[in-house]
Amino acid sequence: MVLTAQEKAGILVEALPYIKKFYGKIIVVKYGGHAMLNCELKRAVMTDLVLMKYVGMHPVVVHGGGPDISKMLKRLGKETSFVNGLRVTDAETMEVVEMVLGRLNKEITALINRLGGRAVGLCGKDANLVMATKKPGKVRLADGSEVEQDLGFVGRVTQVNPDLLLSVIQQGYIPVVAPIGLGPDGEGYNINADTVAGKIAEALGADKLIILTDVEGILSDPADKNSVISVLRVDDIPELVASGKISGGMIPKLECCAAAIKGGVKQAHILDGRVLHAILLEVFTDEGIGTMVLP
Ligand code: ADP
Ligand code: MG
Repeated sequence: MVLTAQEKAGILVEALPYIKKFYGKIIVVKYGGHAMLNCELKRAVMTDLVLMKYVGMHPVVVHGGGPDISKMLKRLGKETSFVNGLRVTDAETMEVVEMVLGRLNKEITALINRLGGRAVGLCGKDANLVMATKKPGKVRLADGSEVEQDLGFVGRVTQVNPDLLLSVIQQGYIPVVAPIGLGPDGEGYNINADTVAGKIAEALGADKLIILTDVEGILSDPADKNSVISVLRVDDIPELVASGKISGGMIPKLECCAAAIKGGVKQAHILDGRVLHAILLEVFTDEGIGTMVLP
């Protein structure tokens, strides 16, 4: 499809109300491990972020890295397992998590910079950005009862200190944050990136939290990709999670959206990161894509 000059101008004008609405506002984007695997997509996501910054919005990236961490653990011959979507993380696994996330963090930072943005790569240890303690783990048994399970260095966020983020944002940078928390004794904690994105969005008073993943949105029937729930009210989330329709990595996503909205973030979105320019469609147009969580 070739657009005429007038059509192109029309598209730009259509974006004006959205640019006005989010001018000077913070938008936290969680870039999911599974949506990060394809180079063309990765480039499209980063281009969207650079565009947002140049029209006066303040994107903040929080990235995951699950598939890359799993790949590296496999190369090293190390077993890995998940409980409720969280990776059980012993000391050796934690070392791999920090190494892989560190490399990914710089790769994303470099890509944004190459595309004309100004990005700075950080993790939760920088300037005490994300403080954490050990997360108590529970596993639900078939009979519905719960037993304790040691998740190792899986962290729970205790505090977010957003000062550094606010100052780099004001200076024109796009912060790129790896989801590693700083423990009370200086140890690193592996924290689900959705959770970190939600907490950071809350601490920054963000207007939007966008979670990019590898499904169409939240599905009311996990086996049917046409069953996307387009709008979800925060009060309906506990019932949805309890219904058993949500599993694995979708659990922390829903929980963090609920917490972020309760913490003052105006909108949270779970979008299909496999769709080219999903962020542009969400931020600059009327297209209703994925799942939107509202108060
Ligand atoms: P990410 O790397 O984006 O965090 P995850 O694998 O952690 O990806 O979480 C997304 C996954 O959650 C989906 O690929 C899907 O398999 C799973 N999932 C479980 N229940 C649902 C549901 N009801 N709707 C959509 N996805 C779901
Ligand atoms: Mg996940």
